[in-house]
This record gives sequence, C-alpha cells and structure tokens, in this order.
Amino acid sequence: MRLQDSITTAFRLTDIHKSSLSRLGIKTLRDLLFYFPFRYDQGGGEASVTQLQTGQEISIIGTLEKLEAKKLWKSRVPTAEGYLRDSTGRIKLRWFNQPYIAKMYINGTLVKATGKVSGSPGKEYLANPQLERVSPTEAGLFKPAQENSLKKSSGLLSAPQPGLAGQTFPDNFLAPRDLFAMYPETRGVTSLWFRHAIEKVMTQEALDSIEDPIPQELLKHYNLPTLKTALVWVHTPQNLKDAEAARKRFAFEEVFLIQLERGRERALQAREKSFAIDAPREAIEEFMAAFPFKATDAQQHAIDAILKDMSSGHPMSRLLEGDVGSGKTAVAATAIYAAVRTRPQGQNYGTLQVAYMAPTEILAKQHFESFIQYFEHFPINIGLITGSGCFKFPSKSRQGEATNISRTQLLKWVANGEIPVVIGTHALIQKSVAFKHLALVVIDEQHRFGTNQRRKLAKKEVRLPHLLSMTATPIPRTLALTIYGDLDLTLLDQMPPGRKPIITEIVKPEDRAKAYAKIHEQLKEGRQAYIICPRIDEPDPEKAFALQAKSVKAEAKRLKEKIFPEYEIEILHSKMKPKEKDDVMARFAAHKIDILVATSVVEVGVNVPNATLIMIEGAERFGLSQLHQLRGRVVRSNHQAYCFVCPESRGEKTMDRLKALTKAKNGFELAEMDLMQRGPGELSGRQQWGISDIGMEALKNLKLVEAARTEALSLIKKDERLEKHSLLSQALIQRAQVTHLE
Ligand code: ADP
Ligand code: MG
Repeated sequence: MRLQDSITTAFRLTDIHKSSLSRLGIKTLRDLLFYFPFRYDQGGGEASVTQLQTGQEISIIGTLEKLEAKKLWKSRVPTAEGYLRDSTGRIKLRWFNQPYIAKMYINGTLVKATGKVSGSPGKEYLANPQLERVSPTEAGLFKPAQENSLKKSSGLLSAPQPGLAGQTFPDNFLAPRDLFAMYPETRGVTSLWFRHAIEKVMTQEALDSIEDPIPQELLKHYNLPTLKTALVWVHTPQNLKDAEAARKRFAFEEVFLIQLERGRERALQAREKSFAIDAPREAIEEFMAAFPFKATDAQQHAIDAILKDMSSGHPMSRLLEGDVGSGKTAVAATAIYAAVRTRPQGQNYGTLQVAYMAPTEILAKQHFESFIQYFEHFPINIGLITGSGCFKFPSKSRQGEATNISRTQLLKWVANGEIPVVIGTHALIQKSVAFKHLALVVIDEQHRFGTNQRRKLAKKEVRLPHLLSMTATPIPRTLALTIYGDLDLTLLDQMPPGRKPIITEIVKPEDRAKAYAKIHEQLKEGRQAYIICPRIDEPDPEKAFALQAKSVKAEAKRLKEKIFPEYEIEILHSKMKPKEKDDVMARFAAHKIDILVATSVVEVGVNVPNATLIMIEGAERFGLSQLHQLRGRVVRSNHQAYCFVCPESRGEKTMDRLKALTKAKNGFELAEMDLMQRGPGELSGRQQWGISDIGMEALKNLKLVEAARTEALSLIKKDERLEKHSLLSQALIQRAQVTHLE
C-alpha cells in the first residue's frame, strides 16, 4: 500500500462512497490519512445498561436483540422495538414512526446506540437512538490484561515528553482504546467507515514512508510530536492529551508553512523594483489642505508611512486596517495623488497610474464619487469601469460632472496614460485593463492579493506596482499575523472628531413597539433606516441565500402592512442581480426609499449618510464583529445614530455576548471576543484565507502563532530558497496547489 495510491484501488467503494469522498477532497490514501477528526467520543465501558437514568443522553455499546416492527398498542403509531444487551443487562430500544429500522439491522449485531433514556423507573428505554455498527476491537471487548495495557501506555503513547521527537514509532497503535475519533461525515461515509479505512492505511510501512517536513530541532524545542506519532495520536488517541498534542503539532505546521510562504514572498518583493513616487511635500500639503476637514493623527501617520514606502523604488506592501468611518478614503486619495503627481522616469510628460479595486460595483461607484470630490480642485482624469457602463471625470463639455463613455474609449485612454486613475471591481480591472505606467494598486476588502496578481496587473511592465490594501474587517491579531504575514500593517485606530458615538440598545421582546416608535420618529425627521434579517446557516450557500431572500421579502411585507404603511420600503439580498442591487442602493442613497430590509449584504462599505438607524433581527446568529460591521452602516453622518439589536432567544450567554457590543471600543476587540468565545468559525471571510479547521484552532494561541512566525522568518533568513529544506519546499508547493484549486 503506497500513500500516493488512489483510494479506489485500496478500498472497495460504492458510487456513493466515491462521490462523497471526492466531495471531501479525498483522492489518495495520503488524503485519507490527513483527514482529521473534529472531536473524540468516549467509547464502550463508559455507560452500561444497569446504570442508566431517565433523561440522560448516553452512548452504550452492546448487541441488538429481538428487533421487530409493530404498532403501539393504544396510539397505533408504527414503531420499531428491540433490546440492547451489554455485559450487565439489557435495555429496550424504541423508534417511533420508523418501523423499517427493525429490518435494517440483524439481531446479534454489535452497535453503539446513542440517545436519550426515557420512560419511568424500571421501564426505561432509549428513544429513537442513533445506531452505529462497531467492531469488537473498538468496543474494547478484547482488551488485553490490565498490566499489559499499562505497560504499553506508560511508554511512547503517553503525553509528550521532552525529546520525544527523536524516538521510534510505537508499534501498538491499534491497541484497544476508549476514545473514538469522530469525523466530519457526508452521505454514505460515516465516522466508523473512516476509522476502519484509516486503521487499514496506518500500517507501520505506510507511516514509515512519510517524512516529516518540520525540522527535528523545532519539534524538540517546542515539545511537539513527530509527524508519525501525531498521525497516530490524532486518529487513534489513547487519551485526550495525546490528541491535543497531535492537533497542536498540525496547527503549528500549518501556521509555520503559511509564514514561510509569506516570508518568502516578502523577501522576493524586497528585491523587486517599483516606480519611485516622490511627490513634492508642498503638493501633498496643498492637496490635504483642500479636505473639508483636518486629518486625524492616525491618518497623518498612515500617509507618512505610505509616502515613505512608495519613494524607495522598491514595492510597498501595506495594509491599512481601520473601522468603518475611520477615514481610509482620504488616506488612499492622498497616496493616489502622490502617484499621479509623479512623472514616469525619464519622461517630461504624462503621469504614473493607479488602479483602485472595490469588491462590488456599488462600492466602485461610491468611490468614484468620493474621488471626484477629493480631486475637485486638481486637474486629474478619473475613469470608472463597471459591467453596466463606463464613465470619465471630468466631462469635456460639462464642468464638474462625469460623462458616460464607451468601454473601448476608456480602455484606450488608460492604455495611453491619459486617464491616470481607474476605478472598478477586482474582476474587471484584473481582466481587461492594460495600463501604460501602473505604479500603485489600491484594493478595498480583498484579503489576499499576492505578488503574482500584482505582476499580472502590471502586464509587461517590469516594475511591480505598489500595493495599498484596505480593510474594515476586524480580525484578531493572531489571524492578522498569519494571513498578512507579508504585509506591513498600519492601524487607523482613531475616529475623526465630532462624531457622536452610536447608541446601541438590546431590544427586549416587550420593548419592540418602543423600538418601532423610535424608527417612526427618525423617519419623520427625514432620516432613513436599515432592517437586517437574521443570518441563516445552511451548508449549501445557494440554499442559504434563497432562504434569506424569502425571509427578507416576508419581513418587508409585514413591515409595510403592519408597522410602516406610510413609508417606502424596499429589499436587498444576495439573490438579486447586481443591476437590481445597484438600482435599489442608488434609490436608497437618493432617499427614494425610507427603509431598506436586507440581509447582511449591506455589510461591506455602502455609504448612505442620511441612514441613521439600523435594526438587526436574530442578532445572536451573527458574530460580534459582523454586528459591529453592520452597525458601521449608520456611523456616516453627524446625526445621532442608533443600532437596535434584537435577539430571538435571551439566554444569559447570548445577552452577555451582545452586551459587549454596547461597550467595545473598536472592532478588533470584538473580533478577539468572537475568536475566544465562539471560535474561529465566527470570523467572517474565512473561506478566502485557505486555512484548515485545525489551523484556525491555533489562532486562539498567540504564543504558538508567534513561535511559528519567528521560526519561519529565521529559517527564511538562513535559507531563502529552502535548498536545505526540500521537504518544506515540497510542502509549500503542495499547499499552493491545494489553496489554488479551492
Ligand atoms: P472608511 O474608513 O470607512 O472608508 P471614509 O473614508 O469613507 O471611511 O470616511 C468616512 C467619513 O468621514 C467621510 O464622510 C469622510 O469625509 C469623513 N472623514 C474622513 N476623515 C475625516 C477627518 N479627519 N475629520 C472629519 N471627517 C473625516
Ligand atoms: Mg471605505
């Protein structure tokens, strides 16, 4: 058995197995070995039928007896019944309305039954238990003599010891155990199937053929198990400590590999050439003096750092992180101005060029409008390219206005350098636009934009464009260190003065009428409101979108009929076409709409200053940082803004969590809370980062992340091409392929 062999040659698989496994990305035996459990269940020996109490949720292992389908005596409900016998006695099993279960199993089958103990004392039964076939080894029925198993576990499979990494691999990994690995399952492929299949693959020979990419010294230094040991511990642990040690190792490995990748990218970039952007100090000052406000210290620092980066002749790679409303656009505008004030080297005409990429068309348009204002007093052409049309500012015939132009014309003017600033969505700019002298790329809310993407944008130009990436997505520090390991970070941690802090209130069910009254009051004063419908969790995003669209429509109808009949109400959700969404947003911005009932699609950057109130239904279903971003929709103006948080359930934990919203100073704090309280699954945008569940677990551990980063950077310093670490180099290539395919 070789690990690169296809699973179809090693196992007899049904078509259902095949398609389910392929959906999980499992093609080879190696893939199977690296498919990790998400939790561990206590196995047999834990509960026995004589110790059961009504109301308990339990799992017990035993054999099935006397299965039959029948109708309940009084109610005539079709039911399957039978017994589960273990070494201490037997208990009744009952499946209401599922008589066929009696035919699915044969008497005498060894199973694990999981369910709730029901009935009265002396007449207990398990109600609708889940059954899982188990093998005698798993059931722990063939446990070796006590002293024998003690001897084995006191040695190699106990908790990690210093120096463990160098030790040979234990030979008793198939020994009976009390923990059962539970795997993410899909149709036809159960945890039991995984356990059997993986045990079959985990032969000594197969494991011996695996080489450990992590250098031995590192494992020793951080007290982590070797790859072989970790594989055994993760799938077939003797105790939870071993399982945890294994998971920690894999988490370290993943973060370490990401850091190596980013570190290498950084080292590569440092050697690249870029346009040296050196706008005169006075010009920058004049530009900033035209702002209708004075820049905050945080903005000034960011601008200084950016101008310094861009003047060096080597590519800038900087991330500007700041809450909604912290004023990132002014910083970007200044960077853009510096670029377009600079002539291409060796030329006494023309200017350098800038691409500004937004995540959606709505935002691209909004930024086009903001930049028109920022550049009002300066003779700069700006182009907007969208799927539904192209624009140029200023218009030749009408002063101070933008004009519709053809796409061909726009592309021509960008290619010959006449339009120095082009705004569009990521997709449009990456695809079709060729620049003459692209010197700076500004991107909004895209989490990764690597060297290769930069090079592609610059087409044949040998100089790499500078990169200014901006985000309002609050993420915890460990995650920032990991995914943005190749970027310099600037925080805009200061809000412009004069803003009234938003009033956030948790609305009790009995206070709902009061909340609506407040909305009425705001609408009467000429303000506008957002009402956000609950998030719906569905593994299939298409289905989730459809359900959300339905709830948005229903809520809008209810509000129009029952609460706000005199106001204009419209909806916005992900199932709508981009054109329809744009339309609705444009009309909301023009105050043709009073209330926008929406899903969290309004989360990213939409800017309607007259909207001062947001009501979030089913609030507990969102992460704190996402709630914070949603409420960021209404902090745009100098009117007092309100956020009404309406949870559906009011458990103590929910309320505590939501209360954090009323106290938190910024989004970063809330992101840390999400991570610690609800786990990495809460962090929005996680699909884009290409980090596995195990890697995400590591993000709770700042020490681990910092260690992986320090080690990766020091290794890159010594061996940038990883010539002395070919296994690591291979692992990186493999990672790149996987993340690329996803
Ligand atoms: P974001 O960081 O969310 O992109 P924007 O750049 O859109 O924030 O700025 C939000 C609002 O704050 C805009 O109306 C902008 O004109 C204003 N603004 C930006 N900087 C300042 C400042 N230093 N003082 C006052 N208002 C500012
Ligand atoms: Mg913005």
